[in-house]
Amino acid sequence: MKFGGTSMAGTERIRRVAGIVKRQQEAGHEVAVVVSAMAGETDRLVNFCREANALYDPAEYDVVVASGEQVTSGLLALTLQAMGCKARSWLGWQVPIKTDDAHAKARIEDIDADALMASMAAGEIAVIPGFQGISPAGRVTTLGRGGSDTSAVAVAAAVQADRCDIYTDVDGVYTTDPRIVAKARKLPLVTYEEMLELASVGSKVLQTRSVSLAMKENVRVQVLSSFIDENAPAADTLPGTLIVSDEELEGSDMERQLITGIAADKNEAKITLTRIADRPGAVASIFAPLAESSINVDMIIQNVAKDKGETDVTFTVPQADLARAQALLEEQQEKIGYYRMIAEGNVAKISVVGVGMRSHAGVASTMFKTLADRGINIIAISTSEIKVSVLIDTDETELAVRVLHTAYGLDAAA
Ligand code: ADP
Ligand code: ASP
Ligand code: MG
Repeated sequence: MKFGGTSMAGTERIRRVAGIVKRQQEAGHEVAVVVSAMAGETDRLVNFCREANALYDPAEYDVVVASGEQVTSGLLALTLQAMGCKARSWLGWQVPIKTDDAHAKARIEDIDADALMASMAAGEIAVIPGFQGISPAGRVTTLGRGGSDTSAVAVAAAVQADRCDIYTDVDGVYTTDPRIVAKARKLPLVTYEEMLELASVGSKVLQTRSVSLAMKENVRVQVLSSFIDENAPAADTLPGTLIVSDEELEGSDMERQLITGIAADKNEAKITLTRIADRPGAVASIFAPLAESSINVDMIIQNVAKDKGETDVTFTVPQADLARAQALLEEQQEKIGYYRMIAEGNVAKISVVGVGMRSHAGVASTMFKTLADRGINIIAISTSEIKVSVLIDTDETELAVRVLHTAYGLDAAA
């Protein structure tokens, strides 16, 4: 069972969580619980790091930000004990959850679950702070923002859990963020592949890595709400969203829609370099320095030069990396040989996702026409087998998501 930040924000909510955990145990399960820091806490800690040292050392950043989960794991164990349950906390290094040494975005390499399983088998509820692990050098690491989802899936895989229940502040995965579109519909089932794509294009309900890990390790993941009635039954019968394989979805009675969901990501920034020479190696000279600095480039557009042997190249990077990317490209101006660099942070990426588009034409054209009808300008486009994304002005994000949701027939019946 994993509980997110909103579910852990304060004594009362932790008591509610403890109640849900206790009922699950009473229903006959052995339980491991992964918890997030209280809502807002990780942001607060990140800010302290920035204030202390703008160019912070990621290893020390991890020491600071991992503390939020340490607090909630201890508090949940205490609350469970107050309710008469046997419970103890297991910090990342105590389990241990072994990661690589990529501080602030570490990957889990191995979880040694023997001690954990022995304690659970003895009737003790294991409470594990999400988001944190231990590096090969023995230092605390964190898994990147939203990483508690990944901790939960990894622990579920390590203890060979029947299921990994992700409790959050919405009662499942919706066709789009239900906080943006009131008519969003809850999906009873979604495939790993679709969830992976939705997460990677901005549906933050699950961290992308948690979905790829669940897919790889065959962990049964269910998303559900922690804001449920005191007397709600144990989760086995709760109506959340279950992440399933393709075959399982085909075998269900759920009708497959052309489009599964729509996601928005406001965390991208756009860079245009003008008048690049149209010769082999020109584009490589732009992206090599970015890659070396671990800056992820997402959408890329380059026109074929027809006239002067020059072309403009536009691409997007995470907003958090924009300043660094600009500095790097400025250093390389002569080598790359561009004329001007134009950077803009005010862009959003809107994506429609669905495996149905593999076999159906017209998904992209519906998207372009719908946006055009509303006067929304498309700055860039990218596609994959099961996704179409467009880059637009940030101010138009909510409108775009709403009109697309209607255009693809996803709106819930009123
Ligand atoms: P937690 O703190 O529990 O990890 P998050 O804030 O990380 O919770 O994720 C839950 C939020 O994800 C919801 O409050 C919702 O606004 C947002 N969200 C975005 N896209 C979707 C979607 N397609 N379905 C459900 N929730 C979504
Ligand atoms: N507390 C961490 C964050 O806010 C991890 C998580 O909640 O998943 O990113
Ligand atoms: Mg989250």
